[in-house]
Amino acid sequence: MLQDDCSYDKIGRLPNIVSCAFADISEKRDAIILTTEPAWSAASGIAIDPKQLIHVKGNTEAYMAALTEVCEGEVVYGVGGGLAIDTAKYVAATNGLPLVALPTILSTDAFLTDATGVRENGCVRYLASKAPDTVIVDMDVLCNAPPAMRASGAADVLSIATAMWDWQEAEKMDENPRDQQITPQTIDIGSTLLQTLLDNAREIGRGTPTGLKLLLDLLCMEVQLCYLCGHSRVEEGSEHYFVYAIENHLTSAEGTNTGNMGGDGETVLHGELVGLGILLMSALQSQPWAQYRHALECLQINYRPHAVSTDAIAETLVNLSDYVAQHQLPYTVATTLRITPDIAKRTIQTVLD
Ligand SMILES: [Zn+2]
Repeated sequence: MLQDDCSYDKIGRLPNIVSCAFADISEKRDAIILTTEPAWSAASGIAIDPKQLIHVKGNTEAYMAALTEVCEGEVVYGVGGGLAIDTAKYVAATNGLPLVALPTILSTDAFLTDATGVRENGCVRYLASKAPDTVIVDMDVLCNAPPAMRASGAADVLSIATAMWDWQEAEKMDENPRDQQITPQTIDIGSTLLQTLLDNAREIGRGTPTGLKLLLDLLCMEVQLCYLCGHSRVEEGSEHYFVYAIENHLTSAEGTNTGNMGGDGETVLHGELVGLGILLMSALQSQPWAQYRHALECLQINYRPHAVSTDAIAETLVNLSDYVAQHQLPYTVATTLRITPDIAKRTIQTVLD
């Protein structure tokens, strides 16, 4: 989620976040709305008359660049989950327009960050775009979103469990670049965010205003911590690399941070794949993975998406060390662990049975 050129003297910051019913938004400028069909119907009470309404259908840079050409207006709105909002960030940054994000589900941290993830050559690349100028949170919309979707972004906080393990292991092996060295304080803060999520997973999964406000707070703190570090190693490790790799097995991978289409047209959320990655990687790291599975269950995150076959999981695990080497991803458990077909099979059985 961050670019290489992020330096310590310029710390990124969170967008303004306002709480407001979508029906009460007053917008007089010519608005370009980037959304997806389910998100737009979830935001049906929205009081904006768009000059352009565009349903986002791709996640490559070429697609986003083409979209940018046809967008004409004075302000960009991103309405939905990660894909719609990441695309809106790209369009607004390229066209030099103000940007308002309206998350309809808390499915990723994309509405808080200043980069756009694009899929390229079977991996993810983050392009500098811009953070929204304003994020509008309508708590009723978030609470009424489908239970399996509304809190799936909690996986991007739970991923601290495996990512921070990877980052610490890299430190022990002297594999962290100079600008990605660990401080014990960062580990303390990351551990606190993780523990707070674990302690409140049930409340968040219930989709209460209290639970979803806490999830929003945790996502804000996770993003701000990454800004302070200048990289996202604290929450992006082998579990995310597993996700980027397995996306190549989903026939029409369509999501950036949310909304990958599985083979049968069924949507696979980023958080679902990250949840699966956390379980597999925490088991391979010999961590107490069962508490993470319990948390995912409380959060109502489906870590066994139907569109992802056991064969695809096994193949992804066996090829993971080649994948991370090929894409030059930072040092994690996936860098050195040789996962044989047998280990893959046993790990899958352990965490999914
Ligand atoms: Zn993520």
